[in-house]
Amino acid sequence: SIKDYHKSNYAFFNKEMQSQRDQEKYFASRMKSALRGGEFIVYYQPKIDVASGDWSGLEALVRWRQPDGSLVQPDSFIPLFERNGFITEIDRCVFEQVCQDLSGWIKEGRKAYPVAVNISRVHIREANFPGELVDICQQYKIPVELIELELTESAFLDNPSIILKIVKEIKKEGFKLSMDDFGTGYSSLSMLKDIPVDIIKLDRDFFKLDMTKREKIVVTNVIHMARELDIQVISEGIETAAQEQFLKEVGCSMAQGYYYAEPAPIEMLAPVIWP
Ligand code: C2E
Ligand code: MG
Ligand code: MG
Ligand code: MG
Repeated sequence: SIKDYHKSNYAFFNKEMQSQRDQEKYFASRMKSALRGGEFIVYYQPKIDVASGDWSGLEALVRWRQPDGSLVQPDSFIPLFERNGFITEIDRCVFEQVCQDLSGWIKEGRKAYPVAVNISRVHIREANFPGELVDICQQYKIPVELIELELTESAFLDNPSIILKIVKEIKKEGFKLSMDDFGTGYSSLSMLKDIPVDIIKLDRDFFKLDMTKREKIVVTNVIHMARELDIQVISEGIETAAQEQFLKEVGCSMAQGYYYAEPAPIEMLAPVIWP
C-alpha cells in the first residue's frame, strides 16, 4: 500500500561532496543539463477530506532524480535555485508536467483531481507571471480552476503592495490561491485580513502532540475565523491517528500527511486514488 512506500533518497552524497558549498557547486554545474534531461520529476501527495475519507486533491512536489537513480529532496536545492533564479525554470517545468498529467487523466476518463503547485516567491515576481501559466493551461486544455497555486506565507511579506497586486492577478486569471505554511510567520492574522486567499494550509507546527490548552484555543479560532471568511483550511504534516483526532476536535476537515499517504510517483498512487 501507499503507506508502506518509502522514499529512496540515500546514495548520491559521497565523501567528496560533504560540504554544502561543494553540493551547491555540483548542483549549479548540473542544473541546466538536468532540466533538459528531464531529471526534475513530480511526486504527488493526496489531500483528504477527513470526515468522508475521500481524496480531494493532490499536491505536486518536485524531486531531482540524479543519473544514478537517487533522489534529491527539494529542501536541498530550492534555496540555491531561489538565489540564482533557476527556480523559475523548475516551477515552470513542474507546472507543465502537472498539466500534461491532468490532460492524460481527463483523456483516460479518470477523475481529474485539483492539483496544487508550489510557486516560489522569486517566480511570482517575474513580469509574465501568471500569464505564462495560463498559456500552459491553454496549451494542454486544462481549466485553470483545476490548479491551485501554493505560495508560502512568508512570501506575502516580501513586499505587501506588490504581492497584493500579484494575488489579484492570480485570482483574476481564475487560479485558486493557497497560503502555504500558514501560521509560521509573525503576521498571519493581518494576512487573513488583507489577502483574498482561497485556502490556508496550517503548518505542521500546529499539530505537535503536546499542545497546551492555549495553543488549541488559538488553532480552533483561526479555523473558525477562516471558515467565516470563506477560506478553506487544510492541515499539513498529519502523521498519526492522535493528530487526526485533534483535527476533528478543532473542526478542520481537510488534511494531508504521511498518515494518509506519502508523496509518490503517480503510478504508485493510481490504485489508491482511482480505485
Ligand atoms: P511544502 O509545500 O510545505 O510541502 C510539504 C512538505 O512536507 C513536503 O516536503 C512533503 O513531502 C512533506 N510532508 C508531507 N506530509 C508530511 C508528514 O506527514 N510529515 C512530514 N514530516 N513531512 C510531510 P518536500 O516534498 O520535501 O518539499 C519541501 C518544500 O519544498 C515544500 O514545502 C515546498 O515549499 C518546496 N517545494 C516542493 N516542490 C516545489 C516546486 O515544484 N516548486 C517550488 N518553488 N517549491 C517546491
Ligand atoms: Mg506546498
Ligand atoms: Mg507547507
Ligand atoms: Mg512546509
